[in-house]
Amino acid sequence: MGDITVCPYCGTGCQMILEIGESSQRVVGYSRSPVNSGKLCIKGYSGLTYNFSSERLKYPLMKENGEFRQISWEQALEISVSKLGDISRKYGPDSIAFQSSAKCTNEENYLMQKLARMVGTNNIDHCARSCHSPTAIGLINTIGAGAATGSIASLEDTETFFVIGTNTTEQHPIIGAKIIKEVKKGKNLVVADPRRIQLAGLASVFLQFRPGSDVALLNSIMNVIVENGWEDADFINSRTEGFSSLKKTVSKYSPKVMEGITGIEPEKVYRAAEMIGNAKPTAILYAMGITQHIHGTENVMNVSNLALLTGNVGKRGSGIFPLRGQNNVQGSSDMGALSEFYPGYVRYDSGKLNNFSRIWGKEAPTQKGLSLSEMFEAAAEGKVKAIYIMGENPLITEASTQTVERGIDNLEFLLVQDIFMTMTAGHADIVLPAASSLEKEGTFTNTERRIQLIKRIYSPPGEARPDWWIIKEIGRRLVGMDDYSSPEDIFSEIGRAIYNYSGATYSNIYPIGKQWPINTDNPDGTEILHSKSFPIGRGKFIPVEYGPPAEQTDDEYDFIMTTGRNYFHFHSGTMSRRTDILERESPEPYAEINTNDSRRLNIKERQIITVESRHGSIKIRAKVTSKIPEGIVFIPFHFSEARVNELVGENYDPISKIPEFKVVAVKVIP
Ligand code: SF4
Repeated sequence: MGDITVCPYCGTGCQMILEIGESSQRVVGYSRSPVNSGKLCIKGYSGLTYNFSSERLKYPLMKENGEFRQISWEQALEISVSKLGDISRKYGPDSIAFQSSAKCTNEENYLMQKLARMVGTNNIDHCARSCHSPTAIGLINTIGAGAATGSIASLEDTETFFVIGTNTTEQHPIIGAKIIKEVKKGKNLVVADPRRIQLAGLASVFLQFRPGSDVALLNSIMNVIVENGWEDADFINSRTEGFSSLKKTVSKYSPKVMEGITGIEPEKVYRAAEMIGNAKPTAILYAMGITQHIHGTENVMNVSNLALLTGNVGKRGSGIFPLRGQNNVQGSSDMGALSEFYPGYVRYDSGKLNNFSRIWGKEAPTQKGLSLSEMFEAAAEGKVKAIYIMGENPLITEASTQTVERGIDNLEFLLVQDIFMTMTAGHADIVLPAASSLEKEGTFTNTERRIQLIKRIYSPPGEARPDWWIIKEIGRRLVGMDDYSSPEDIFSEIGRAIYNYSGATYSNIYPIGKQWPINTDNPDGTEILHSKSFPIGRGKFIPVEYGPPAEQTDDEYDFIMTTGRNYFHFHSGTMSRRTDILERESPEPYAEINTNDSRRLNIKERQIITVESRHGSIKIRAKVTSKIPEGIVFIPFHFSEARVNELVGENYDPISKIPEFKVVAVKVIP
């Protein structure tokens, strides 16, 4: 049997074994894995050939007169360190920004944020900002930990699944398959989504609500629960605080009143509330349909309100499950690669940074850092002069890509390390070739908090090096960072920095991983969080009032556009679009438009249409479908040929700074 490693795609974190022959590679799911029990989706089985693409970056590159030329590692590191050092000395440490990556390991994310903070800035962020920063902040506020409360395996004990804002069978197919299996046994399924996703076909109740009306819908469900006395009074009395103010708020949201906002018939809300409140345990699963709004943090807190109201926290089969998009969103956030959080979610302004200063031998900075989008705005304004990006492609993935482009073009120095020459890397001054996750060791933490070891299966191509080695070499020369000998060396420091990781070692987490917290109190890890108490004492109800999305339709921009992923591709397509099987299945960008809308506008299947927002415009093929309601357009964001994020404006959740990707007013021009 070959080494067991972890799928490089979604946050489910399926375990796999690569069986390698002379000229072949066979991928099988690891049958003893509690995550995937031997199963994989198409990305796991067939999505790894990008690793051998001839387009892999193999040597360090420097741009001269608009062209890249190969240079040595010594030159690349020397130039990078000298540029970053000069800029820091000339303009101050906050003139440099660092972007980490949820595709990289915990060790690499830990080092990247440490480097930023040793340079003296909290300008460190990564793509979790654009997917689950509301989860980190919202759940810390309400239950004290920004993480899934249960395990994937524990969903076998669930009686009612409430799936809201996650197209689970496409984005997290193994978890989606688990839900289908349980529902086929007779369990309840409530699906809330603006699109008729696959799970809607199996649902006992399908709530096809208007984009951006999540708070109204959730308040309405809670209104019915409270009105009918279906709340869990024992749990509320013994484990929570703030119930009376929640009760007062949700009393205003009767399903009848809310019908005008959500578009859902009161009867359906009643049936959903009855199942969620009475047929327990209930598990609530959500993803970016909840978070990518200007009310993203409020949406998350309202999901938490519902779970606390019905006592669905701390028991097998119940819980809150934020499904993470990339394989290490949970881990990279745990590691503190976010501007407001140090490792273990210690806030930059908490006055509790002594442990980090002691471990790093340098005072931890206490000034506020910039979020991902703020970095590019600051660069466009000339305040940020250099950005160091690891494994991210913001020119495709960030909102308002025009601002990202203006910011990048205004920099004095852009340093990018990646496995391919991405669109963003093409704008860099220095590009450093990185090893893929199949070519290095380290750990990933999946969507259920499971810390899993990945093994080096292949050698990196050419002179490509693991990201941890690259950061360490830059850090060593720039700020005297430790000369780590291996990822394991870094992992033991993580254990000293984050108590929830303190009991994990490479040997005790292999092969099936362990769920944090792993520490002296929980040496074997913790499958179910909050079973006796919350880290903040009592769970807090934080009532939320409905507010409309930032953008509204009008006579001119009469459609709502929402963005997301499809089954075959992943994020900016850097990996999946270099994998033949996946690219063959989904080779080009498309906009889903409702059948009646297409008829009204005389748009045929595959016809090129223009989708224009108040911020930009793209040309794209139409895909006519009855899966989405009239007045809505869905566009996946994987495709550089039609960058949908050009249409997304600079509307941010004021709490988490996540952009509102899910509600954009557009017009459709045949
Ligand atoms: Fe990989 Fe996610 Fe598919 Fe599992 S469900 S094989 S982790 S893409």
